[in-house]
Amino acid sequence: MPELPEIALLARDMRTALVGRIINSIEVLQPKCLNVPAEAFRAALTGSHILDVQPRGKWLQVKTTLGWLLLCLGMGGEILLTDRDHLPEKRRLIFDLDDGSSLAVNFWWFGYAHHVAELGEHKMTAQLGNDALGMTLAEFSALLRGRRGAIKPFLLNQRRIAGIGNVYVQDPLFKAGIHPLRPINTLSEADVTALWRALQETLQESIDRGGSAWERNLYDEKGGWDESYFQVAYREGQPCPTCGTTVVKIKTGSTSSYICPACQPLTGGT
Ligand SMILES: [Zn+2]
Repeated sequence: MPELPEIALLARDMRTALVGRIINSIEVLQPKCLNVPAEAFRAALTGSHILDVQPRGKWLQVKTTLGWLLLCLGMGGEILLTDRDHLPEKRRLIFDLDDGSSLAVNFWWFGYAHHVAELGEHKMTAQLGNDALGMTLAEFSALLRGRRGAIKPFLLNQRRIAGIGNVYVQDPLFKAGIHPLRPINTLSEADVTALWRALQETLQESIDRGGSAWERNLYDEKGGWDESYFQVAYREGQPCPTCGTTVVKIKTGSTSSYICPACQPLTGGT
């Protein structure tokens, strides 16, 4: 599933390749991913000029002269820049552009392609918290202040903080020595600072490596951030890189977590 680094990279590449292009026609193969009937969606965006592309949590916000195209890949998918002769086998939407290229969008299971005239009209993105990357320590601390729940579900809640999913949450918790189920109100100032720093580092490291090796970019290339960068994430049964204790996989609510039980005690150790 693409998370903040992959969306940030897609937005960057789409901005470079698409700004100035005109959407000449739109083919809709999965109408239920739209927020309006297919005919209305096509009519709304056909002939529009692409002005900008911005990441927002796990969403891409494409600004056009005829309102906004908002894309979310949901549980996974691809956005590929190609042409009519090289369309991927699996695609749900195709945007044909004035230079002969085509933007092909695929959702593995289900995603969204929405059109709104004004960004403020779009409830799903208006409700998102600030993006995790670029958030200051002061903003992060303020978000956590007074919270009583467990830290991991809070970090995954897109309305609190946007862009982090179950891949990028694992190692920051380890690096900060925090158990995923630690109640937020037991975190010290040093814990919060360490967690904030580890989140920024991990997200930026992936962006610098071209995103996750399990995702494709706009040009159908896989990212370079692979398991060699993982500390405890998906390393069940292997030794903790810090203390050698065996990494375990535990259930944390609806998600799985990979932790070092020695480095990430459930109660604060300091
Ligand atoms: Zn350890």
